Amino acid sequence: MEKLLIENLENNTEDKIAVVNKIIKFSNVDGPGNRIAIFFQGCNIDCAYCHNPETISIGSNEYTKNYSVTSLLEEVEKVKHFIKGVTVSGGECSLQYQFISNFFKNIKLKYPNLTCFVDTNGTLDLSKDLFRDFIKYTDYFMLDVKAWKSDDHIKLTGINNDNILKNLLFLKNSNKLFEVRTVIVPGVLDNETTVEKVSEIISDTEINYKLIKYRSIGVRETKLVGINSPTTQYMENLKKLSLSFGIKNVVII
Ligand code: SF4
Repeated sequence: MEKLLIENLENNTEDKIAVVNKIIKFSNVDGPGNRIAIFFQGCNIDCAYCHNPETISIGSNEYTKNYSVTSLLEEVEKVKHFIKGVTVSGGECSLQYQFISNFFKNIKLKYPNLTCFVDTNGTLDLSKDLFRDFIKYTDYFMLDVKAWKSDDHIKLTGINNDNILKNLLFLKNSNKLFEVRTVIVPGVLDNETTVEKVSEIISDTEINYKLIKYRSIGVRETKLVGINSPTTQYMENLKKLSLSFGIKNVVII
């Protein structure tokens, strides 16, 4: 599946327009400090717990808006005095990596004090040469590691996690990883193994680990029927497990 997707991306020379689902002008949950968060339309997977299913379909629809790099820079211009940086999210924003590379390159030229962050599901192999500029102009990535075990990942998203685990190491070793995120779903995923393995890998770094409580509100009715949110005690135990590996910043949300 990924091979097909990469070929499509390589053939897609049209990087002048991005399809955006929404823009939050001031967000303090999408990276460090106050940031403008831009949610690109389109995702390449379909997570059972997706809280933004309206961002999954690829291409424009009645709720999206098309932006050129120039018009998106105008949005940044309006808030530049009040933000620390720009975060691109989705959907899966890396599907529009050519546009984002160009956008971030322009941010670096016009607003050198602003940082550029990418929030990604990590399903595309970012070590590939075609992503070189995307990596170069992005200061930091925030990466979802939804499940360590491939079977769990397939159950949750429909695809394996090979590229995600590869990206975890690649971004860590490139000093480009700001944060790892795991949604904790009790009774469905082996959360302990995921937290343990991720913590082991990032233990010798400053990388943050965000443990996100699964919440059923907003999840499509046909998915994860009857699954409850984890208890506070369960989340605290996972946090303790992560801290035992020496992680400096573990946050529960
Ligand atoms: S990666 Fe994010 S946007 Fe895509 S389906 Fe999963 S939760 Fe939804």
